[in-house]
Amino acid sequence: MEMSKKQTDLLSKTGKNIEPSGIREVFDIAYSMPDCISLGVGEPDFITPWKISDSGIYSIKDGYTHYTSNRGVPQLLELIRDHLHGKYDLNYEAHRELLITMGVSQALDLALRSIIDPGDEIIVIEPCYVSYKANIEMLHGVAITVPTFFNEGFNIDPERLKKAMTPKTKAILLNYPSNPTGLTFSKSLLQEIAQIAIEEDVLIISDEIYSAITYGEKHFSIASLPEMKERTILLNGFSKSHAMTGWRLGYAAAPQFIMDIMLKIHQYTGLCAPSISQYAAIEAMQSGEKEVATMLSEYTKRRNFITAGFNEMGLPCLEPKGAFYAFPKISETGLTAMDFTLKLLESQRVAVVPGDAFGKSGAEHIRCSFATSMKNIKTAMERISQFVEGL
Ligand code: PLP
Repeated sequence: MEMSKKQTDLLSKTGKNIEPSGIREVFDIAYSMPDCISLGVGEPDFITPWKISDSGIYSIKDGYTHYTSNRGVPQLLELIRDHLHGKYDLNYEAHRELLITMGVSQALDLALRSIIDPGDEIIVIEPCYVSYKANIEMLHGVAITVPTFFNEGFNIDPERLKKAMTPKTKAILLNYPSNPTGLTFSKSLLQEIAQIAIEEDVLIISDEIYSAITYGEKHFSIASLPEMKERTILLNGFSKSHAMTGWRLGYAAAPQFIMDIMLKIHQYTGLCAPSISQYAAIEAMQSGEKEVATMLSEYTKRRNFITAGFNEMGLPCLEPKGAFYAFPKISETGLTAMDFTLKLLESQRVAVVPGDAFGKSGAEHIRCSFATSMKNIKTAMERISQFVEGL
């Protein structure tokens, strides 16, 4: 249907100006190719562990299909409180400082909405998850990017971070383990970042959605550093850890003065997270650990294989410390990330994501998800190797 000029003028400039995700473009092509192998998808290939799904089904049978309290089902809030205490020695009050949300996506939106007034600045560390800048800009905030680089292990340079701060800075948005780099920040680096946040009196939004998927070192949360719980909005969820992307369930933990605002916005915009998913998540919290460990052991094998494979074919790749992404450097091939991606797709039918979809400093890379079967990964790596040899 043709739209009149008047009709398109009715749309918001903000909505119209948001850049479409660079990931979609590749996938639209990939979906039309029947034998294409995708290393593009950012979600577990595993299905939700049966006991968890079963709990969701039972909650429907038992009639738990109503709104829950805005904050979330009390038992789930308490289990999350206990989890944060057990894992990080953090003490949150379940009914004051925690909130169950529709995925980390909504938790992030609420966090940003509760702190951004037009023109306020949020620091994002690039390359970063595709939604961050759009989320900030939709609220008329300004995303100030601090780049990180391959030759620095994608670590944050504290000096670069300090230089990006202005009187308008409200928060630093962190994601570790990181999508897309697969790397994480050491405790000592987080200490340095925390020091800057304290000195500059800004907040930290800490997206820890991949915290359960780490290889080797146990995940450490910046919120657990001295004086940091008071200025951190910790975000986490069940999508990645428990293969529950479709259940849309996450949570936020923050000091009460922030959480009160987040809850108020949530009451008006979301009401509550899906009741069925909350009951399923209770089971995930109570008995999901074994299943998480099984998935992690499978991801570990794939990560070792894929990292070695890229390095052997001459595409330098740092060893992922968490999440399920490898981020090899492809610039030595002489191609841009987008050219590499499109040519690989056309000639070898393997879908990856060009690194600049995650920001300028990702432009010399491609993101390859290993959340797909080892069989697919092996075939994809053979095809990529042939592609690189033929260049
Ligand atoms: N944060 C990061 C870093 C992600 O990679 C993703 C999903 O890919 C999300 C948040 C969104 O997660 P959820 O499914 O909990 O909304």
